[in-house]
Amino acid sequence: MKLYNTLTRQIEEFIPHDPNEVKMYTCGPTVYHYAHIGNLRSYIFEDILEKTLKYVGYSVNRVMNITDVGHLSSDSDSGEDKMVKGAKREHKTVLEIADFYTQAFFHDLEDLHIKKPDTICKATSIVDFYLHMIDVLMEKGYAYQSGGNVYFDISKLDDYYQLTNHKIDDMVVGVREGVEEDSFKKNQADFALWFTKSKFDDQELKWESKYGTGYPGWHIECSGISIKYLGEYLDIHCGGVDNIFPHHTNEIAQSEAYLGHPWCRYWCHGEHLNDSTGKMSKSKGEFLTLSLLKEKGYNPLVYRLFCLESHYRKQLVFSFDNLDRAASTYEKLIRRIQHLQANVSGTLQTDLFQQYQNQFQMQLEQDLNTANALTVLYDVIKSETLNTYTKLALIENFDTVLSLGLLEQKADTIDVQQDAYIQTKIQERNQAKQNKDYVLADQIRDDLLKMGILLKDTREGTVYEIEKR
Ligand code: AMP
Ligand code: ZN
Repeated sequence: MKLYNTLTRQIEEFIPHDPNEVKMYTCGPTVYHYAHIGNLRSYIFEDILEKTLKYVGYSVNRVMNITDVGHLSSDSDSGEDKMVKGAKREHKTVLEIADFYTQAFFHDLEDLHIKKPDTICKATSIVDFYLHMIDVLMEKGYAYQSGGNVYFDISKLDDYYQLTNHKIDDMVVGVREGVEEDSFKKNQADFALWFTKSKFDDQELKWESKYGTGYPGWHIECSGISIKYLGEYLDIHCGGVDNIFPHHTNEIAQSEAYLGHPWCRYWCHGEHLNDSTGKMSKSKGEFLTLSLLKEKGYNPLVYRLFCLESHYRKQLVFSFDNLDRAASTYEKLIRRIQHLQANVSGTLQTDLFQQYQNQFQMQLEQDLNTANALTVLYDVIKSETLNTYTKLALIENFDTVLSLGLLEQKADTIDVQQDAYIQTKIQERNQAKQNKDYVLADQIRDDLLKMGILLKDTREGTVYEIEKR
């Protein structure tokens, strides 16, 4: 299995620390609002990664955090806590907000057929562990108290910027967002481990500690949760590309300083989904959620297919036209599978099954080439050597990773008898074309057109659309 590793900036063979269990950590949502469909693209990529690891034979233990405290408006630790802002916006408590949007997040996962991680941990649930880590970092001289807060001193590390290849100019995100600098820090890039002082004194959730009553920084949450549940050696850490700096950079700094040895070997990041105006942002007011797509009549799995059609490391632009194209592909795919289901015959063609399964696996093993994996699925459907029984067995097998509900869609969405008739006509037309009898081929197409059935020759074979009357 080959994966692109942000840390080494190359595609590498994946070798887990313990071959019996891959340890995988994926940054979860900050539950102050609904997830936008960009966030969901990252979770779809992580789901595909976990399922691919299982498909190739690994056992995977995956952990995710739910950020319900400490994530400030700017990722570089300044501004107001996003949770407090969310609570004010809706005149609720932070806990009410956290609970509501956590449940909404779980619904999104379910709708998108994203498997829930084995452990999901709320940031507020292990504050004692963060305080223990902070104690160790203080004892080892990596952390200092200043102006009431506790900071990590990045000058104590030889290679703080290892994940970002030292492209420091690209990394002053927080400062560019118009948030003032923190004068308590020794170095501009130092980051907060524990806050007791903030110019926003209405922080709702606070804990007693020897550093003063306060709350943890956002970065220590992910290090803490990962180390507590997955131990000292992590195999894969994921997130969207915006997490590379400062969040993941800071996680590496504090985790390795705390542990005293290298921590995570593979860092995998999903590229962003953008809309026509650029980056998606929840602060822009109206934003694109899965519920909105559902309200507009889209099956959430159409959005999943839309994401799988492109590579996770390429930026993807969302538009309703693009989504409509995915919807049409999905509908045709389901229709053809339903046709197979209505005409099952034969027994398992073991060798061919293996061959196609290998092809599918090979595509996923190449840094999750989901677009090519989908092409293998289309090849299976249109194959003339596979019988329908074997086709359906392969589709079921592929769907353990793709999770597009390929065999689950309701059969009453198509008229099975009519579909069988059209499929026979398509076959007759293909035969006519093979015999170079183009007059007959055109005749078949025109006859169907008169009945309101439009044939289209596509990469996946001939499909049809029925004119709405
Ligand atoms: P947040 O809830 O803001 O902490 O983000 C949750 C996840 O979504 C993180 O892994 C982010 O890196 C990721 N993310 C944020 N914006 C986008 C986007 N436009 N496209 C894809 N992933 C994103
Ligand atoms: Zn995180």
